[in-house]
Amino acid sequence: MPSYKANDRKSERPRPARPLISIVAPCYNEEDAVAPFAKAVQAVLEGADFDYEILFIEDGSADGTRDQLVALSKTRPRVRVIVFSRNFGKEAALSAGLDHARGDAVVVIDVDLQDPPALIGEFVAKWREGYDVVYGARADRSSDGAAKRVSAEGFYRLFNRISKIKLPEDAGDFRLIDRRVVRALNALPERSRFMKGLFAWAGFPAVGVPYVRPERAAGETKFSFWKLWNFALDGIVSFSTAPLRIWSYIGVVIAFLSFIYASIIIIRTAIMGVDVPGYASLLVVVLFFGSVQLISVGVLGEYIARLFAEVKRRPIYLVDEIYGADLEKGAGRLVETVDAAYTENSGS
Ligand code: UDP
Ligand code: MG
Repeated sequence: MPSYKANDRKSERPRPARPLISIVAPCYNEEDAVAPFAKAVQAVLEGADFDYEILFIEDGSADGTRDQLVALSKTRPRVRVIVFSRNFGKEAALSAGLDHARGDAVVVIDVDLQDPPALIGEFVAKWREGYDVVYGARADRSSDGAAKRVSAEGFYRLFNRISKIKLPEDAGDFRLIDRRVVRALNALPERSRFMKGLFAWAGFPAVGVPYVRPERAAGETKFSFWKLWNFALDGIVSFSTAPLRIWSYIGVVIAFLSFIYASIIIIRTAIMGVDVPGYASLLVVVLFFGSVQLISVGVLGEYIARLFAEVKRRPIYLVDEIYGADLEKGAGRLVETVDAAYTENSGS
């Protein structure tokens, strides 16, 4: 199976002596996870030899997440909160985090403590060694159910087979990326943001750090089977044209088989005369071609729908408010209420 091969050449670009690391944490209905997360991050990073800021993206939660985050920003000068106008999804939240992060490097992390904050120090150490991307590699997937494990494996297999960009198989979004990778990603104009793919697309010297992924600390997963399915489709359609092109080959094979079958029928009719029965074979052929055509039109539809979304050029997310750490002026003020959202972001 073709698989991911990291660019493991280290960069010799110097790192700042006391860098600022931005922690980007997307939150959607996470009222029970926010406080333990903030505590864990603080515990791990308080004595570190780098500065940090935590950037929470409030992705249109329906529970008390927003109030919790705003309260947190008022007591903690390192916390900034970007409140979306509605739920835009994790990929959009990550894009917003990368747009607003100010650090020399950015750590993308889930707020449910499935990505252990204790690893951040190790990520930064690897980054200092010269890697521009340091990703968390899940040593095992025991915290996922059997169905998710099998479907995830199938997805990575298929993806790596048909896409030129290969994904590391056991990496989630949990990773540190250098400022220049952030800049590259922020410059991408596309609306459909399959971040795992975009991280891999960017390239740059990368290394994985193995870790065991714990269970969720609180709450439950936000990704239903249907959401994951659409997420997988998004990934494949954004990174491969194989599902589009395969139909020419399927067409050629079917045309060839049809030609053989047609020849047999013609010859048989010429020798044995007309035999009227044929209802069953006729029906089979009609149904078969009907389905093949519908499937191929459906695949076309997947690409056209995404083309349509790209062409409309709607922003990836809309920001409602930003609460923030304006370090000189004190914590927790409403820094910005965004009215003209289109000037706020366009993904670039
Ligand atoms: N998330 C988000 N917006 C969404 C769904 C999820 O910001 O629409 C966040 C969620 O709050 C969490 C992270 O993305 O911090 C990962 O979600 P989850 O833990 O549900 O995914 P899983 O770990 O089950 O794959
Ligand atoms: Mg999780």
